[in-house]
Amino acid sequence: MSEGPEFANDEQLDAIASFKELLEDKATGSLLRRLGWYDASSVSKDQMKYLMKLLSAIFFRDYQMELEFEWKSCNDDYFGRYTCDVHPKIEMSTFNYMDASPHGNLSARPMSRLSTLLHELVHAYLGIYAWDTD
Ligand SMILES: [Zn+2]
Repeated sequence: MSEGPEFANDEQLDAIASFKELLEDKATGSLLRRLGWYDASSVSKDQMKYLMKLLSAIFFRDYQMELEFEWKSCNDDYFGRYTCDVHPKIEMSTFNYMDASPHGNLSARPMSRLSTLLHELVHAYLGIYAWDTD
């Protein structure tokens, strides 16, 4: 990942650096390794919220977005979804993942789940700041 455009601010650069650290952590139990496990729920809710925070900072330059996260193991119909029934929340399937190409250190499964998470953040961003969407 490059250092980003010149107009990047400090928080965004910090988030990029933190994300890079995650990418470079090759320990068996590292966060992104576990995101690639068959059962993704070994990545805790707080760790998913940390990933969401980094992605929001990097892609939306938003450091405030308050979002809940929940793994869902009983629904085969989706990879992820954004809801705001009570609080804005992203839910992701514990087991499902879509076809994604491996990239760098990331194999297909963590790439897929990161893509889903970023996709749901777009919904959340629109839902919270622009209009309701599902
Ligand atoms: Zn969607």
